[in-house]
Amino acid sequence: MSGHFKTAFSRLTVDLGAIRANYRAVASHVAPAACGAAIKADAYGLGARDVAPALYNAGCRVFFVAQLSEALNVTDTLGKDAEIVILNGLEPGAEAACAAHGFLPVLNALSQVARWRGLARAKGRPLPAVLQVDSGMSRLGLDATAAASLAADPAFARDVPLRLVMTHLACADEPGRAANAEQRARFQELRSLFAAVPASIANSGGAFLSTAFHCDLVRPGIALYGVQPNSRSAPMHPVVRLDARILQIRDVEAGVGVGYGLDYAAPSRRRLATLGIGYADGWPRSLGDTGSAWHAGQRLPIVGRVSMDSMTVDLTALAPDALAEGDFVELLGPSQSLADVAHDAGTIAYEILTRLGTRSERIVIGHQTAAAATLEIAK
Ligand SMILES: *Cc1c(COP(=O)(O)O)cnc(C)c1O
Repeated sequence: MSGHFKTAFSRLTVDLGAIRANYRAVASHVAPAACGAAIKADAYGLGARDVAPALYNAGCRVFFVAQLSEALNVTDTLGKDAEIVILNGLEPGAEAACAAHGFLPVLNALSQVARWRGLARAKGRPLPAVLQVDSGMSRLGLDATAAASLAADPAFARDVPLRLVMTHLACADEPGRAANAEQRARFQELRSLFAAVPASIANSGGAFLSTAFHCDLVRPGIALYGVQPNSRSAPMHPVVRLDARILQIRDVEAGVGVGYGLDYAAPSRRRLATLGIGYADGWPRSLGDTGSAWHAGQRLPIVGRVSMDSMTVDLTALAPDALAEGDFVELLGPSQSLADVAHDAGTIAYEILTRLGTRSERIVIGHQTAAAATLEIAK
């Protein structure tokens, strides 16, 4: 690791213990409903091959990915009793691999139902799946007519035993929105067509609306990764820390310009540090002249534009010897949360998280032994 360390200009630290603690917090909040986990997009950028088995050790048995490739990436990290659900639907050409690995495609349209059924018949055995219905978000899922046509066909249930009927909420991050109750009511009508099948509505936000949204299974993602999903939820345990290395420190006189376009001009003599992180590392360019780095609780404002591989911060408020070239400063951690950065960048924590870490040294902490895992589940 030390060889890698010398060339790492930023470090992304992922705390698996915090992810497990967040999972247990959501799971106990929604009990007796079951709690799955969204691990799509490489577990929101944190590394699905580390995150998925950590969640499995915390008791999670249902994992949601977006694409077949993401299911293939994690399947060997999980126990045989884990189920992997592919949210974006049954991609044409993915049928055989889904069936061979026992993945559960989410059937989002009658065309997908037809292809999955066709394979079940060709194999002469039932192929289980998840059915999504559209309850008002107009994104993915069957409409009421299509859902009713399936429910009226007894051969469908024999070909494709449904493990789950689900829908997705458009406004779960805003508990006050009437759309939440409207979607729930619409979903109750549609799911009653498949009365014997377990149901699921809630993402992280939905888990903290009311118990009526828990149904049989919740599907949190962002809450597990340390972000409070809405105002009704408790704060989550922070999961990521991001630190960037100081490449160079310089003192500039009043009036000197900084960075591309010379957008920033020093208003007085300033001490500046150039950090080895930029927008190619997923650090948003929109933080130019607005965002912050931190050191020991002291804000270090970003000055000038964020470059591809670097950006400049103002150290003037610190004691002259507080930081040296080669030291790291905090970008995400105790002084600055994902929500803070998302706010400054004019986006959501999901987008910050999923873009981070492609070039950072990745440090995964909180690994757990099999014996500790057994104890943790027993608790
Ligand atoms: C991404 C996703 C989730 C998880 O959402 P969070 O807001 O991260 O909790 C759950 N269900 C579906 C269908 C999703 O696409």
